[in-house]
Amino acid sequence: MALTGIQIFKLLPKTNCKKCGFPTCLAFAMKLAQGGVELSACPDVSEEAKNTLGEASAPPIRSFSLGSGDMAVKMGGENVMFRHDKKFINPCALAINITDTLSNDELAAKAEEVAASEMERVGQKLRIDAISIECASGDAAKYEAAVKLVADKAPDAAIILNCKDAGAAEAAVKAIADRKPLIYCATDENAEAMANIAKTNSVPLVACADGLEALSALTEKIKDLGVEDIVLDSGAKTAKEIIENNTQIRRSALKKSFKPLGYPIINFVTRDDAMLETSIASVAIAKYASIVVLSSVEKWKNLALYTVRQNIYTDPQVPMQVEQKIYEISEPTADSPLMITTNFSLTYFIVSGEVENSKVPSRLAVMDCEGLSVLTAWAAGKFTAAKIAQFITESGVGDQVNNKELILPGQVAILSGALEDKLEGWKITVGPREANAIPTYLKSKEA
Ligand code: SF4
Repeated sequence: MALTGIQIFKLLPKTNCKKCGFPTCLAFAMKLAQGGVELSACPDVSEEAKNTLGEASAPPIRSFSLGSGDMAVKMGGENVMFRHDKKFINPCALAINITDTLSNDELAAKAEEVAASEMERVGQKLRIDAISIECASGDAAKYEAAVKLVADKAPDAAIILNCKDAGAAEAAVKAIADRKPLIYCATDENAEAMANIAKTNSVPLVACADGLEALSALTEKIKDLGVEDIVLDSGAKTAKEIIENNTQIRRSALKKSFKPLGYPIINFVTRDDAMLETSIASVAIAKYASIVVLSSVEKWKNLALYTVRQNIYTDPQVPMQVEQKIYEISEPTADSPLMITTNFSLTYFIVSGEVENSKVPSRLAVMDCEGLSVLTAWAAGKFTAAKIAQFITESGVGDQVNNKELILPGQVAILSGALEDKLEGWKITVGPREANAIPTYLKSKEA
């Protein structure tokens, strides 16, 4: 049964040392009761408290990492059904599946594609996180060699050992144990052997069964064999099965505290039809998968899936924002134009991208409007003539430019008169309404 914040507080050291990142033990206890933090965040908790709190304070969906090092991907730890209830915590990992029957050159090329899959979108670095290597040859030595080669060529990617043969899986795990590979998978037939490999090497293990009843029986069996970090594969393949099974798994874990299904989910969505694969992957990302395995790396597909993932895992209560400051684009001089906008991330990246496209060295004054876009900030009274004047004055940008001219977004042209009154000595010019008109506008000013 879940403990209340007060019950948890009684078991904590009560020193208010702040090492957990909370100002008091009570604040930490309250957060722990809500499932928003893990007990391990308090380094001074006693063994006795750990034993008492361990199960009760464990998140309803177990949390652990896929892979090792800085690029390891955290999975699980979710505590809501819907993003608008609070937020989804750990973005799902994207992986591709390749087989050990490929030639060494082909394996290396695939691994390098994954290593080069990173792209930046609204300030975040997004990439394919993992490679699943399938033992299709049936040859343990060939499989081990393929795993070593891929791991070597994609040093930051997490590795999934897609191999049901315990002997081949064990050799491959040992070859790259420091990468903490995920073993795929334990079934009813090989559960003892696979659990033994996972336990001995301290690596996570996928439990794979057809349907949720068989799956929960299998996870209980694996847990009894000593494996804690388990990933679920319910056998769902179609979009319908993925929605149904993943939803039922999440609901059982969160609403019924059903521990045998309280683990992250993996979905293989590989298809010959790339468009269909991408659509089904989107469904899996939206509906609770922690790992989605694809058949290939393609830029258009990656961008679509990165965007879906990023949208779903963005905290809806926290606007995405960038730092308030004067951004210099393409090495501006004292004669370069100065534009202003708000600090909503999307606004900043679109505007700065268009300024860069113009190839006209410029300054972009980005004003803190609590992450709101230009029109919303203006309507909310956060992007007013008085506030803009104060920001520009305090920023000191007036000392860096010869012509004191500030270019306002066209959508708030209405502010220009009041701003000229408040910002003494400055000329206020109204710029384009839409960001895509910025390159032409800046070039025309340069001419
Ligand atoms: S680290 Fe532990 S003892 Fe220190 S404030 Fe947090 S809960 Fe209390």
